[in-house]
Amino acid sequence: MIDLLQLKGVNPIGQRIEDDILLILAESNVSEPESCSGCGSKPVYKHGKRTHVYADTPMHGMPVKVEIERQRYRCQSCGTVIVPNIPSLDEKRVVTKRLIEFVQARCFNNTFTLLANETGLAVNTIKAIALDYTEDLETSVYRETPRLLGLDEVMISGGYRAVMVNLEMNTLFDIHDNRKLASMRQYFEKLKDKDNIEWVCADMWEPYKVLISEQIPQAKLVIDRFHVVRMASNAMEQIRKKLQSELSHSERLKVKKNIRWSLLKGSKSKSEYDHEVVEYIRENYPELALAYDLKETFFNIYEFPDRASGEAAYKEWKDAIPLKFSPEFNTVIKIVDSHYEDIFNYFDCPITNGYTEAMNGVMKAANRMGRGYSYEVIRAKLLFSKIARQSGSVIVQPYSDRPSHLKEASPKEKSFRDYGASILTLDTMSERGELD
Ligand SMILES: [Zn+2]
Repeated sequence: MIDLLQLKGVNPIGQRIEDDILLILAESNVSEPESCSGCGSKPVYKHGKRTHVYADTPMHGMPVKVEIERQRYRCQSCGTVIVPNIPSLDEKRVVTKRLIEFVQARCFNNTFTLLANETGLAVNTIKAIALDYTEDLETSVYRETPRLLGLDEVMISGGYRAVMVNLEMNTLFDIHDNRKLASMRQYFEKLKDKDNIEWVCADMWEPYKVLISEQIPQAKLVIDRFHVVRMASNAMEQIRKKLQSELSHSERLKVKKNIRWSLLKGSKSKSEYDHEVVEYIRENYPELALAYDLKETFFNIYEFPDRASGEAAYKEWKDAIPLKFSPEFNTVIKIVDSHYEDIFNYFDCPITNGYTEAMNGVMKAANRMGRGYSYEVIRAKLLFSKIARQSGSVIVQPYSDRPSHLKEASPKEKSFRDYGASILTLDTMSERGELD
């Protein structure tokens, strides 16, 4: 019969379909061992046959299993039983090696359930293959260490993880299990080419300061603007709550609905209704309008063209705060002043962490995946998705910036520089459900 199996060391002898599985019967055709693998004596004797079933790559839309009858041998001197190795089989997982490759090529772009259905393997086996593969990739894949690094924390699978983004290339650089100082220190100690990092964008978490000064002293910190302006929103909210609670019941009924959201929105994203609300507040509740204006003015500091005018705008804003609002806005001032350099570094390098839609989408997907996958699997799916990594990498022309002693390399040489997984691609994949 024609060998449709094309599996080295195995001869097909028949086939049948059983429970929607294509079962191929085969015998091994590897040669008899010359000597005992235990003691080296010759000869060895035939010692019965055993049948083993190996899962193989799907065919005609059906899972495939290969039932192989294997000859066993026994050594007369030491009693060792020898089953000659068939190189195309993976004995650990009882599958063909090409099935392992099949799963590896798909496991970060498809759901494990889909792969399990396609191959007839258990979901847990798919997961085990994916995790083995992750370990291999972890040691073999090198991602370019970013020049502009975004450090953020995201809840993934029950824990806050440190998510690292290449802000220049818009790629996911790495995800670290947690953001505790000791653990992050270990991470940075091992990080290759950490001298590449020039700027780090992060929130006001103190250990980052320690980490940067210890591990990447050449890098400068920019406090993420979102975390800064949020403080002014919080201050305005406290004032709004206080003022609203002081209103009489009948007055409270007159207050427009949803004023909270209308006031919190930035001027760019306001609807006509939001503008009406603000006008209404201005006419009827001037004190709340003042708190609102202070919030808006604070946000606007970031719109100034350079550091000097930004700093001047902040000073002006500080001076404009009326005494009655100092309990709320003084908290903002205190924090801004204690992180002054790092906050205004923004004007020297205007980077920010999660303000792209795509990044939010990816992080939401990571969160959602937490229901079905362990942290390790989610991390691997995000970092090692082949499609996302391809779109995140850049073709490097030969010689462009190679060290001079390497320049005599082949002129045909062209290599890819891996910056990690493209966030845009990951977001598209998550929308298509390919990450779930
Ligand atoms: Zn022996």
